Amino acid sequence: MQDKLNLEIHIDPSQQGSYFTLPFKVPENISRLSIAYEYSRRPEKDIKIPGGMFTSQMEENVVDLGLIRPDGSQAGVSGSDKLEISISDTFSTQGYQSGPITPGEWNILVGAYKICKQGVTVRYTILLDHKQMILLKGDLHVHSLASDGIHSLEELAIKAKRNGLQFLAITDHNQMVSSVEMPRVPGVTLIPGIEWTHYQGHANFLGIDKPYDEPFVTNTLEEAQKRFNSARQRGALITINHPFEEIASFRFDLDQLPYDCIEIWNGPMRVSNIKAIGLWQKLLVSGRKIPFCAGSDYHRDTPFIFLGGPTMCVTAISDSVSDILDGIRNGHAYATFAPNGPMIELNAGHAIMGDSVPWNENSEITIKAEGLLSGDVLQLITGTNSETLYQVPMDGKLTMNYKIAESGFARVELLRSFLPGLPMLPALLSNPIYFD
Ligand SMILES: [Zn+2]
Ligand SMILES: [Zn+2]
Repeated sequence: MQDKLNLEIHIDPSQQGSYFTLPFKVPENISRLSIAYEYSRRPEKDIKIPGGMFTSQMEENVVDLGLIRPDGSQAGVSGSDKLEISISDTFSTQGYQSGPITPGEWNILVGAYKICKQGVTVRYTILLDHKQMILLKGDLHVHSLASDGIHSLEELAIKAKRNGLQFLAITDHNQMVSSVEMPRVPGVTLIPGIEWTHYQGHANFLGIDKPYDEPFVTNTLEEAQKRFNSARQRGALITINHPFEEIASFRFDLDQLPYDCIEIWNGPMRVSNIKAIGLWQKLLVSGRKIPFCAGSDYHRDTPFIFLGGPTMCVTAISDSVSDILDGIRNGHAYATFAPNGPMIELNAGHAIMGDSVPWNENSEITIKAEGLLSGDVLQLITGTNSETLYQVPMDGKLTMNYKIAESGFARVELLRSFLPGLPMLPALLSNPIYFD
């Protein structure tokens, strides 16, 4: 949904050389603000001069543009050079700063640089894009040159875009990365992160620049708790990474540390991931509502390792860092083996995966899947049961309903035989819908 506002102002020649402001209201939940403006630059000669050139010598009217946030700070200025500008949480026209489109009174800054003797009418069109549920694909575990990866942040963002991803978390070993240093690549949200890397286990702290003030080092569980608690208090999303990876398993007691997600799918599907899925299932069976996450642990391209292998597919209300991480935190996400892997939707009434609904004897789950291959096996997993629902007869789509016999949770695994002779492996994992 998009709101369109039109504003108009007439500037008199006596106002030449002064600045003024045009206020407009921005409601809640706007993801992007765009402004376009037009006026007659050479009324008497009737020749259109495009923006982007220094043409003021020839122009009889020159009106400058700027934008002021509700808190009075400058969101950007562009002189008379740009006739259209736009900003969002993750992207902005050069000369403007990206940032949240906070609700309140914004102001267009009008600079009357040069006004001809008849005066000039300037027309502004403001477009406000509302946040709406979108499916975004990304990778939550990526290393750069700052640790043992081989790519710069910019190279990673461009590679992500090429692979069909819309977000990327930068998670270098014990290196904090500031969101200010992040390159801006349109269409890719870079999430600041750190992979807290300790001899006893690895964890990602995502979405903030500085999860703790001290060095990462800890020699006791108490010190580790301090780092985790500090990250939690500052708003980081905490993920427990590759808990069964042979050379870097997680040996702290999980019950003693705060965390939001478990990374049950790290890089190619293998035994350590299958064990992690088992641990997650055990936690779900115990009544915990813990979402999972997935990431490639990308350092460089090697056989079977690539950005988006696996891909986290998140339903979020915008592509801002905080909205993406909220989607992950709420379990509104599934993972596939690659960016172009199969897709799934789970619904119980209005509930989507990650949500909780009250259970009754009529409770049902609707499963919609796409990108299935002949031979794929769709399994529904609850606290007490793992049932093959469907063996896909031919490539394509599927919609089916399944009755939920008892309270608890229901999630889906799609198994695929990637190569003849190999065992079937998860090609897609969903978060559960919880039936309370
Ligand atoms: Zn690690
Ligand atoms: Zn890693």
